[in-house]
Amino acid sequence: MISDISTYIGTHKQDLYTLMETLVLIQSYSRNKAGVDRVGQYIAGIMERIGFSCEIVPQQDLGNHVIARSPAAAKDPKGQTLITGHMDTVFPEDSTFNWYKADDTKCYGPGVADMKGGLVVGIYALQALVDTGHLKDLPITFVFNSDEEIGSLSSRELIAKEAKHARLAYVLEAGGMRNDIVTGRKGNLSISLEITGKAGHAAFAGKDKASAILELAHKTLALEALNQPEKGISANVGTITGGIGPNTVPDRAEASVDFRFLSFEDAEGVQQRLDEIINTPTVPGTSTRVQPVSGRPPMPQTAGNMAVYSKIETLAHKLGTPVLSELRQGVSDANIIAKQGIPVIDGLGPVGAKDHSEDEFILKDSLWERTILFANILTEI
Ligand SMILES: [Zn+2]
Repeated sequence: MISDISTYIGTHKQDLYTLMETLVLIQSYSRNKAGVDRVGQYIAGIMERIGFSCEIVPQQDLGNHVIARSPAAAKDPKGQTLITGHMDTVFPEDSTFNWYKADDTKCYGPGVADMKGGLVVGIYALQALVDTGHLKDLPITFVFNSDEEIGSLSSRELIAKEAKHARLAYVLEAGGMRNDIVTGRKGNLSISLEITGKAGHAAFAGKDKASAILELAHKTLALEALNQPEKGISANVGTITGGIGPNTVPDRAEASVDFRFLSFEDAEGVQQRLDEIINTPTVPGTSTRVQPVSGRPPMPQTAGNMAVYSKIETLAHKLGTPVLSELRQGVSDANIIAKQGIPVIDGLGPVGAKDHSEDEFILKDSLWERTILFANILTEI
């Protein structure tokens, strides 16, 4: 089985690069609805040609999501394999990073790593299975979402819904430079704080001075005390603003804060302490409002994830493609899937780095190597 899939992908290498170049050259910043929609239409065209049925999930301001189902998954999604990949990139429409190039060892362009290269891996792995007769009755659903880079607010529910009746899931974000595959990710919570006090002339302020900045200083210390690097918990007060001048008691202060954690338990612990800190003023006369900005649950390296990883490792070994298990710091849609309690493996896209910068690249050969690996994962695991 391994050999005819490898041969198929081996003879279609140029097609993989052509598809990646085509997708990269369609501008698809998260807020460029027309561009993301074009990527979705293009992909839906391919998926339908290989026999998948596509559902377009329309969005008002953001790009439409595309859900592609294999014939077996369209009939009955129970026990399906879920694949997800996002079509949006972080580069605004007027960015000068709007080109694609490749040399002998690398490919460069917006999204080659994050994550149009990963979409190519998924699409071509499926095409290889279809064309070599290995797709058979495999129930596979591939969600192409439009808003991962801005928090997946409009797609997280549909991803969670597909995950609910999935047996396991794969996310095609880029592999790490040591050939890493992602078996766990930290979760995050990003919030903004708004503290209200009472304004007055600094010279006449008495004991009851309700300075919003003073309260924010106390809160900053309390929040930073949540840091526990040895447990993988981080808290960072990243910005502060407030006040209008030295001679005025500030009646407003604002801050933005980021938390990271490894387990569901720690996520709850952080939330609990945060609530206490918010609801316990140190400076009388001040009050604090908290606004969640974004967040994704943690993706712990569960026994389920590690069992799937070890099967991938065995397959990769047979194929001569080295892999390594990675606990990645940043978040992705794999975090949303992990919350549903099914095994999920991420970082199965091509090996690359420098994403979110104009130096973004992938290692050229890893595009077809990872496509062969992924096609085998889908049939063997
Ligand atoms: Zn990404």
